[in-house]
Amino acid sequence: MATEDTKRFMAKYRSSHEFRKGHRERNKKYKQRIRLETLSLLGELKCCKCDFDNYLALHIDHIYGGGHQERKRYPSVLQQKKLIEANPQNYQILCANCNAIKRVINKEVIKQSKYDD
Ligand SMILES: [Zn+2]
Repeated sequence: MATEDTKRFMAKYRSSHEFRKGHRERNKKYKQRIRLETLSLLGELKCCKCDFDNYLALHIDHIYGGGHQERKRYPSVLQQKKLIEANPQNYQILCANCNAIKRVINKEVIKQSKYDD
C-alpha cells in the first residue's frame, strides 16, 4: 500500500515530463556516485590484472563467481555496496576485457553463442 508521500510523488511523476526527466538525471547521478564509492572500497580505481584505469569500463568482479545470482537477489546499487563493504575480500576490480576473459576461462558464460561447438 502506497504512502501519501509515494502517491504525491507518483502523481507528479505521471503529470510532468520535466519532473520525470529531473528524477531520471538525479537517479543516474546517485547510481554513479554509489558505484564510484563501491569501487573505491576495493582500492585503487584500476584493473587488478592489467592496470587499465578508465572507471567507465571497470567491473566489480566476484572472485569466486556467483555474481549473476547475487545481482538478481540484491539488485540495488546500495545493497551491492553493503555486500562489498561486509566482505571486500570476495571482490576485485577488473576491466571489461579482463572480466570477459576470466568468464571464458572459467566457463562462466551463461548463454553459449550459436557459433560455438
Ligand atoms: Zn584488465
